[in-house]
Amino acid sequence: MPLYSIKMRASAQGRHISGAEKIIPDSRIPTCASRLLQRGLTHPKGSPDLLNIKIECLQDKDILYLDALPVSTVDVFDVHEGMQEIRKFLESLGLANAEKIISLLSGAYSMRGAILLDVDTLERLEPDPGRGVRATYMDQEAGQRSGETPGASPKNHYQEAIVLATKVANAPNVIGEICISDDPGYVTGYVASKSAGYKRITRMKEYGSENGGRIFLYRGGREDVGKTISYLEKQPVIVRNVQPLESKEKAAGKFDFIEKELQAMRDTHLYRTMKTIRSAQSRTVECGGRTMLMMASNNYLDMSSRTDVKQHAAQILEVYGAGSGGSRLTTGNTALHEMLEQKIASFKSTESALVFNSGYTANTAAISALMGKGDTIFSDELNHASIIDGCRLSGANVVVYRHNDMKDLERSISEHPCARGLIVSDAVFSMDGDILHLPEFVQIADKNGLLSMVDEAHSTGVLGKTGRGITEHFYYQCRPDILMGTLSKAIGSEGGFVCGSKNLTEYLKNKARGFIFSTSLSPVAMAASYKAFEVIEEHPELVARLQENVRFFCQCLQEGGLFAHSETAVIPILIGDEKKAMEVSQALFEEGYFTSAIRYPTVKKGSARLRIALMATHEREQLKKAAQAILKHFSDTL
Ligand code: PLP
Repeated sequence: MPLYSIKMRASAQGRHISGAEKIIPDSRIPTCASRLLQRGLTHPKGSPDLLNIKIECLQDKDILYLDALPVSTVDVFDVHEGMQEIRKFLESLGLANAEKIISLLSGAYSMRGAILLDVDTLERLEPDPGRGVRATYMDQEAGQRSGETPGASPKNHYQEAIVLATKVANAPNVIGEICISDDPGYVTGYVASKSAGYKRITRMKEYGSENGGRIFLYRGGREDVGKTISYLEKQPVIVRNVQPLESKEKAAGKFDFIEKELQAMRDTHLYRTMKTIRSAQSRTVECGGRTMLMMASNNYLDMSSRTDVKQHAAQILEVYGAGSGGSRLTTGNTALHEMLEQKIASFKSTESALVFNSGYTANTAAISALMGKGDTIFSDELNHASIIDGCRLSGANVVVYRHNDMKDLERSISEHPCARGLIVSDAVFSMDGDILHLPEFVQIADKNGLLSMVDEAHSTGVLGKTGRGITEHFYYQCRPDILMGTLSKAIGSEGGFVCGSKNLTEYLKNKARGFIFSTSLSPVAMAASYKAFEVIEEHPELVARLQENVRFFCQCLQEGGLFAHSETAVIPILIGDEKKAMEVSQALFEEGYFTSAIRYPTVKKGSARLRIALMATHEREQLKKAAQAILKHFSDTL
């Protein structure tokens, strides 16, 4: 099969801009020509006014196949160290006049080709010193090219340079080569010889400099110069085993720990993947090419797809645009933030509220601002990860008490007396769906002079007759110092909040790093949240419907012999084994039910479960059928 040499040269006003070449079969000519053209057109040195593509047929018998020089990399700090490496290389070739040879490099800066230098006499041997000698007609063996991207990518430079250096190192009477690229964005250069191999030197010039050039080091008689030049300029060479840049020695092994960790997770059924939904988040979603009944979403009141919520958000988008442009303390504070905060404070019956970018941020930012080194935080063992991370970030002493066990909380406090401290708990535990014993919790905190903080992520819009949350659930007989919540669950949008006294929110505005150093919530998210609160205020029957759905669904499961109970929107169905939990969830998925299998580290090892989350908009018939499907697949695991 004949091969073709294809060469691209680009120049502007006679000045060389870019050049590249390949040796390829005829079938690749059209794609390759187009790539080379693109490369010439998009070179960082500028736009060409002349682009030349030359294609020639080569005879296979004339092609010389060579093995690529072995590659090593010398990491240097600056150009000075880079030059030091060239000196060492020249000395290793037995050349005493290293300094003089280096000084000649500048003579090659404006040349297309290389200087052919007699290393003993320092005479330049190129017939035309303005043009120099050009090594050409070469490529690497097909199938080894990595990413033939247009433009001057390091990958192109790297593999093309090895090909050229290998050809040059094998030229008769050439004992070595020095090369600095003339590409302003590529500062890596190399020295090469048959004995030293191809030595990459990571810094040979300053960024932005076009001062590149090459010297081919010649040792031999004058009568052989013609032979050397003819080999360099005419002999077609294909270089074998050019390794891609990624496999150079330093990169090897760098990511091994990631691969090992991923494999360990796969082996223990803890590897997580994501399902892609192609519709709004509602009681049904489009996923895996069909309509699924959503039984895992925190969008408990189905606010995120309500027409009135969407319309309001769309109107605000039109007026306020897509982003807020900065942190609240700089340019990102809008009337929308303030209106939303007033709405939340009124909904929660607190003096003040402060909005954060997510529930996660609200917890980490507030806890770490309130507590610090020397303080003590008492935290329920099943608290959400964002509380745990807030505790860690604070640097305070953290004491974990048994889940929702108020006796253990009291015992922990008596064993860890502190001058200043905080007790923190989920209001509704996100993976178990049970409710904090709020009255005792608040009482213990007050009795011991500790701040009390409750995370209302899963109680807002869910607990209480009108969805006001845990304080309403307990008939407002007690009130923690700090109520935290999210806008991402029953409110159906995104964001988080902290409610309490005016002083508390003022303190957080000044101290909470997650508030201060992050761009504030987008207008659309705030508008959707604001409208959702209004809808809940006007339609408390939505909350009642959610609560009825939970009762009905639990009853369906109980009638089928499966213990299930919840007073919240979260219904855990304990399975235990991680693999089985995954299998049940997958089987349900295949029948059109979207559920979540919750595993370690979200819950303890060996306590994997299906976490069913219901919505106010689920129909009874849908819930009945879903319960039947769960019962069937659950019994299959026994
Ligand atoms: N707190 C609890 C109890 C949660 O379940 C979540 C949600 O994942 C968060 C906080 C974090 O809220 P967000 O998703 O808004 O970051």
